[in-house]
Amino acid sequence: MRYEVIVIGAGMVGTSIAWHLQSHNSQVLLLDKKPPGSETSYGNAGLIQREAIHVHPFPRHLAELIRVLPNQNTDIRYRWPAVFRYHQALLKYWQFSAPSSVQQIEKEWQTLIEHCTSEHQEMITAAGAEDLIRRDGWIEMHRDENKLKAAILGAENVLQQGIEHKVLSITQLKELEPNGNFDDFIGAIHWSNSWQVSNPGALVKAYAKSFQEKDGAIGECTVKEIRPEGDGWQVITDLDTFYSDDLVIAAGPWSNQLIKPLGYDLPLFPMRGYHQHFETTPQNTVNHSLVDMDKGFVMGPMQQGIRVTTGAEMTTIDAPKNFDQLNAVLAFAKNILPLNQKVETEAWAGSRPCMPDMKPVIGAAGKHSNLWFAFGHGHQGFTLGPITGRIIEELLHNKPTVVDIEPFDAQRFSNA
Ligand SMILES: Cc1cc2nc3c(=O)[nH]c(=O)nc-3n(C[C@H](O)[C@H](O)[C@H](O)COP(=O)(O)OP(=O)(O)OC[C@H]3O[C@@H](n4cnc5c(N)ncnc54)[C@H](O)[C@@H]3O)c2cc1C
Repeated sequence: MRYEVIVIGAGMVGTSIAWHLQSHNSQVLLLDKKPPGSETSYGNAGLIQREAIHVHPFPRHLAELIRVLPNQNTDIRYRWPAVFRYHQALLKYWQFSAPSSVQQIEKEWQTLIEHCTSEHQEMITAAGAEDLIRRDGWIEMHRDENKLKAAILGAENVLQQGIEHKVLSITQLKELEPNGNFDDFIGAIHWSNSWQVSNPGALVKAYAKSFQEKDGAIGECTVKEIRPEGDGWQVITDLDTFYSDDLVIAAGPWSNQLIKPLGYDLPLFPMRGYHQHFETTPQNTVNHSLVDMDKGFVMGPMQQGIRVTTGAEMTTIDAPKNFDQLNAVLAFAKNILPLNQKVETEAWAGSRPCMPDMKPVIGAAGKHSNLWFAFGHGHQGFTLGPITGRIIEELLHNKPTVVDIEPFDAQRFSNA
């Protein structure tokens, strides 16, 4: 069967792309091996982060390296096979993490972030998904006085960018979160115009349903190979072979597997995170997502229960799960809130799709016509899916893009 556009990957990014294209009269097939929103876009912390104007650089200070090296921290861990496998990407990550580079990268990154809530809103309204959204922000909590002072200064500096916050004393934090124990903390920042989603996978499913209601097609199958065919594309799956004029790769951390045979070798690498849900009672819940900035984890109220999500584990995408980091996080989480029974017998794990320069790849592939890339959104792909969808629609339909896409071009990497 032939379509105008095939999008591979029904995470937040691919589903948003399919939705935008279908809304602007393209006939789209969205392919995924699983139902929409079942992978990384299911298991994240569910924050739509208007405040996320900073990227996550590689530790460059000696003190920070010494802290990370013993591999015992809750916020970041690594496994040697992954360090060897991705050493070239990590070396680039180190280089791009120099303060002068980060400054420029953040300027470019912010051109995307500033659209995140307005672009989600358009899709939330169309999908009738208001019940999944809470617009009362999330709270970053600090144990260290100097880090809190720096965070407050940073928050004040971005007020003019429309990013709202309130500094909270522990008494004020306790008023917002009466069930919590904050004895180990000294203060907090409430990011009040970021949003919390009570079931991230369900939001992607709602967007996918809205896409289907506009006559978009969804195919549940594994893509085995993509082949150029004339000016268009052949997509070979375990179910059938599909044809399209344009092809969009939005397969998150798996994107390289699809494009490598065509000669693309982008330095995409996975950063794993884990989550576990705990049953809630009126005494065992929180009202906002709480982020422990020193221990690097999030505890948030979800439909499934309290979801505790970990920071980053540098590992290979298919490595067996290792629960050490999650268990270390849970020890701290239990001090904040007594956690009830676990909801799942085994914790969830998924991979953030990361690029060494901390920016996604959005735009034309470069070596083939009518091939488009949209992946590598790292720690904020749930936030940035809809704006990415809009940009890809504008590119495919030869319109001016709302954001300058040059900084996100796949060809910024010499071997792309
Ligand atoms: C613990 C954790 C917490 C996070 N918290 C946040 C947060 O609060 N806010 C935020 O903005 N971001 C957060 N993120 C990051 C965010 O989840 C990701 O950046 C985002 O989900 C990536 O979306 P995606 O659509 O690119 O990838 P995915 O959601 O992974 O989608 C890719 C899809 O491609 C499909 N696919 C791959 N290969 C094939 C194939 N060969 N054939 C068919 N289908 C294929 C997969 O099945 C999958 O559904 C978090 C991530 C983690 C791990």
